[in-house]
Amino acid sequence: MSASFAGFEQLLTGGLAADEEIRKLLGDELERQRTTLQLIASENFTSRAVLEASASVLTNKYSEGYPGRRYYGGNIVADEVEDLARERAKAVFGAEHANVQPHAGAIANLAAYQALVEPGDTICAMRLDQGGHLTHGSPVSITGKLYRFVAYGVTPARPDGSGERIDFDMVRDMARRERPKLIVAGATAYARTIEPGPFREIADEVGARFMFDVAHPAGLVAAGVHPSPVGVADVVTLTTHKTLRGPRGGAILCGSELARAIDSAVFPGLQGGPLDHVIAAKAVAFREAMQPGFKEYAAQVVRNAKAFAAALVEEGFRLVAGGTDNHLVLVDLRDFDPELTGKLAQETLDRAGITCNRNQIPDDPRPPFVTSGLRLGTAAETTAGMREPQMAIVAGLLARALRKRGDEDELRAVREEVRSLRRTFDPYPEAEGA
Ligand SMILES: *Cc1c(COP(=O)(O)O)cnc(C)c1O
Repeated sequence: MSASFAGFEQLLTGGLAADEEIRKLLGDELERQRTTLQLIASENFTSRAVLEASASVLTNKYSEGYPGRRYYGGNIVADEVEDLARERAKAVFGAEHANVQPHAGAIANLAAYQALVEPGDTICAMRLDQGGHLTHGSPVSITGKLYRFVAYGVTPARPDGSGERIDFDMVRDMARRERPKLIVAGATAYARTIEPGPFREIADEVGARFMFDVAHPAGLVAAGVHPSPVGVADVVTLTTHKTLRGPRGGAILCGSELARAIDSAVFPGLQGGPLDHVIAAKAVAFREAMQPGFKEYAAQVVRNAKAFAAALVEEGFRLVAGGTDNHLVLVDLRDFDPELTGKLAQETLDRAGITCNRNQIPDDPRPPFVTSGLRLGTAAETTAGMREPQMAIVAGLLARALRKRGDEDELRAVREEVRSLRRTFDPYPEAEGA
C-alpha cells in the first residue's frame, strides 16, 4: 500500500470527534440500519469500498466540464476517476456512451428530456398512480410543467393475477393519437418485467424517441436478470443506489450519436460541478457489478422476491399483478384488512422494526398520502445475506405486526424477533456489535 493511501485511510476515521451531535446521529443511523429490516425497494446497503470512496477528498475538487475538457486546473486525478467510471459503466451495460455526472436519478431524467425534446412537446409515460415516477410528468414536478405529458396505465386487475400489466394497446393508441416526441418506459412501483421491445416498435411507428428509466432494476439489468434496454432505447437513465448497490446518484447511457446532446444537457444544462467523490464511488460500484458474485446476488434478489411474494399470499395479502419478476412486490392491503391503510401499515411496521413505504396501487380509492398499498423490496436484505427461508420469516413477522397492530406488547415482541434476525444477517459485520 502506498504511503499516500495510508494517509487517505487515516483521514477517514476520527475526524468527527469534534462534532458530537453529528457523530452521534451517524452512529444512530448505522444502528437503525443494522437492527431493523430494510424493505424499501429503492434502498440497499453499499459496500465499504463504496462508502470509503464517497467519503474521500475528491469532495474538495471542482471539475466542471468533462475529462480532458475542464474549466479549472488540477483535474488530472478527477479526469482519470471519471474516465474509469465512464468506461466501467459502458462495460457493465454494453453502452456506447455513459454520463456518470447526474447527481440523482431525477436529474438524469431531466437531462434526457432536455436532450431529446423541447419545452411544450408531448411525452408519453406511465401514470404515476399506476407505478410511474414523479419525474415522468407529475404536475408537482418541473417535468410536468415543462412538457405536455400524456399517461398510459396498466390493464385491469384479474382474479388469476394476469392483469395489472402495462397496457400496450393503450400505449399504441395513445401514441397514434397524441404523436408524442418521446415515449418513456420505466416505473418506480411495478413488480413485473418491462420489455423494451414493444415500446421501441410503437416509438418507431409514430416517429418518437424512446427513453427507458431503469432507476429501479439497474442492478438486475447489469446482472442480466432483467432484459436490457441498452441498444433498444435511445437513452437509458438509471440510479446507482437502488438495485445497483452503489452511492446515491444517477447516470445516463446512450449511443454515440446522442453523446454530445446528453453531456451538454447535464453540464452546463442542469448542473455545475460534478460530485467527484460520488463518481469515484460509482466507479467502485460498476466494478463490483461486473464481479461474478453480483450476478448471483441479483438472481438471489429475484428469488427472494418470489419467495417473499408467495409467503405474503399465504398470509392473506393480495399482490398487485399477482406476484413479481423483479426485486419488489406491491401489496394491496384491502383483502387482508379493509380498514388498514398504507399509511397505518407503514407506521405500524415502523414500530415493529420493519421499514417500508406505503404506495398507491392501481385505481387506489385512497389519496396518495394515505394509500391502500405497501411497496416491499428485497435488494437490501439480500445484500445482508437473507435467503428464501428468511423471506418467509419476514412475511410472517410483517403479517403478525399488522394483525396485532393495536397491541404494543405484540409489536415489541416482533421488534425483538426482527432484532435477533438482523444479528445473524448484519449488513456491516465489520462494525462493532449493534
Ligand atoms: C428513484 C427513481 C428516480 C429518481 O431517482 P432519485 O435519485 O431519487 O432522484 C427516477 N425514476 C424512477 C423510475 C425511480 O424509481
